[in-house]
This record gives sequence, structure tokens and C-alpha cells, in this order.
Amino acid sequence: MTALDTRDRATVARETATFAVDVGGTWTRSRRLEDGATTDRVPTPSVLRRPGVPVAVLREDLVELLGSLAPSLATVAVSLGAALDDRTGVVHGSAPLWGAADDPFDLGAALARRRPDVVWHLVNDVTAAVTDVAVRHAPAGARHVGYLTVSSGIAYRCLDVPRSRIEVDERGLQGEVGHLVAQVDAEDADLLLSRCECGGRAHLAAISSGPGIARLVVQRTGATSDPVARLSAGLGAGEGWAQGVLRSAVAPVAALLRTVWTLDPHLDLLALGGGVVEGLGTAYERTLRELLSTPASYADPPRDDAWFDEHLRCCAPGEVDLLAGAAAAVSGASEAVR
Ligand SMILES: [Zn+2]
Repeated sequence: MTALDTRDRATVARETATFAVDVGGTWTRSRRLEDGATTDRVPTPSVLRRPGVPVAVLREDLVELLGSLAPSLATVAVSLGAALDDRTGVVHGSAPLWGAADDPFDLGAALARRRPDVVWHLVNDVTAAVTDVAVRHAPAGARHVGYLTVSSGIAYRCLDVPRSRIEVDERGLQGEVGHLVAQVDAEDADLLLSRCECGGRAHLAAISSGPGIARLVVQRTGATSDPVARLSAGLGAGEGWAQGVLRSAVAPVAALLRTVWTLDPHLDLLALGGGVVEGLGTAYERTLRELLSTPASYADPPRDDAWFDEHLRCCAPGEVDLLAGAAAAVSGASEAVR
């Protein structure tokens, strides 16, 4: 890509999207951005769905799918479950979409070639989520709003609300916490042997993500089918093994949140969402609050339910709209929070 390409894409930023797409590891959802429009859903051509298919083929199929969804002459906001530089459209990696592949892929350029009539804006899915959370759920005067997605992968983003900015490094990244080594309780040291989809070991995403929790259920119960449903049923029935699995999976997330709060005193709201948080619902939130309510040291503030009600939100299904968030991120609509 040339410097001119980069500048051209930057100058078309902050405009109004007319169509939005959310590419998740399992489903790709899309909607026209107009009143009363319905959301369509098709399977994502990802390594999660099609293990063994070469990454080059998966990438071609994704470009083809997005190209086929976009209406003529549309301005499209794409939310993508990937580490990506949304200033350029270059994707650095996505374990759910492409496994361990870590060669940068210029998806923005590929889409522009496939559908040159369309203006494409690529937005990291956590950027879309934190923007929607800030627009819909942040209290007036909020300084920083964070969002942690716990789904097929794990990632975090923090929005500086007054400045309407998500600070990024030179690759356009922030908050790729899923591939940090997890902090586990001493009795769970065996979890540090877990292998992550990215190829690493003991990563947070290998233990606390949906696939990580499923592995945990299989290890501890010998279940061979539908481990997540089995966990939900066990939690519903108040079974001790299920609560133990949940606690092992949530503890590294709680440790991460302590670190985030310690380093960011302006974080006025921290929301969690994604399939794991939404699917396990109140059981997840209760376990997280229990783990965080005990101060780890004199430096940790006491946190009671009133504190959690103000600072921590576990989102229920439908409380975060990635399609609206991607569109809002493109138009800079998080400024509306101020
Ligand atoms: Zn990893």
C-alpha cells in the first residue's frame, strides 16, 4: 500500500455508513442502517467452521462473502473479530478466522478490488462493541469506557470518551489481552499447559474463552458431547464441579480486570460481553463479583455490590449491537456521549 492510499482512506473516515456487517468466528451478520431493517445471518468461512481449509482460501471466501453482501454504492462499516489496523484495513491475525496465521493481510485493499463501488471501513469488533457500550450505557461524564469480549477469543479495548479516541500502537492495536499468559489460581496450575488456538501456551484465551471452557469441562468430567450445555445444566442444578469449572475459567479474567483497574484510574465503566458472558449470564457475573470482592492487597479497594453496579456491567444478549457500534465508530458518534 502507498502512503497516498492510506491518506485517501483516512480522509473518507468519519462519514455515515449505510450498511453494516459483523464478521464473527461463527456467524456473519449484516443489516442496512435504516429504520426497521432486519438483520441477516450467514455462516462465516472461518477455520472454526472449516478446519483444515488453507487460510488463503478462507480469506478469498471472506472477501467474496463481504463483496456479495454489500449493496451497490454503499458505505459499509465492517466489524471484524481480528487484530486489525482500522486506519488501513490491514489484518494482523485472527485465531477464530484463520488460526495461527500471522502474516499481515490487507483485507481493505482486497475488498476495494472486489467491490470498487463500495466505501469500506474495517473496525475491530471490540472497537465496535466499546463504542456501542459508550453510546448506550455509559454514565454522563464518563472518562474511559472499557469492553472485554469473552467469546471464541478474548480481547479488550478502552475508549477515551472525552477525546472520542481509542489509542493504538504503530500497528493500530490495543488490548489484545487474549494472548497474554493467564494468571491462574495455584490449584489450577495444570491449566498453564493449555494450548491456545494461536499456537501459544497458557494464554488467557486458551483457558477462559468458549473453547477453553469446553476443554475444561471435558478434562474434569470426561464428557464427550456438548460440554458447554453440560456446564450450563450443572450450574443450573447447583453442582459443585460446574461451579469449580466456572471459577477456574473466570479467575484469570478477574485477575486481568484487577490489573486494568490498577493501571487505568479513569476507567469509569468496564463492560464484559461475548458469547461466554452472555451464555452463562448471572452465574458468570456472580462468580466474577465474588472473585473481585476480596481485596488482593492494601492497594485494592473494597468492592461491594454498589461499586460493581456502577463500574462493572456484564452484558446480556442484545445489550451490545456490533452493527450499530461499527457504524458509530466510523462516524465518530461516540462523541455523542459527552
Ligand atoms: Zn494465544
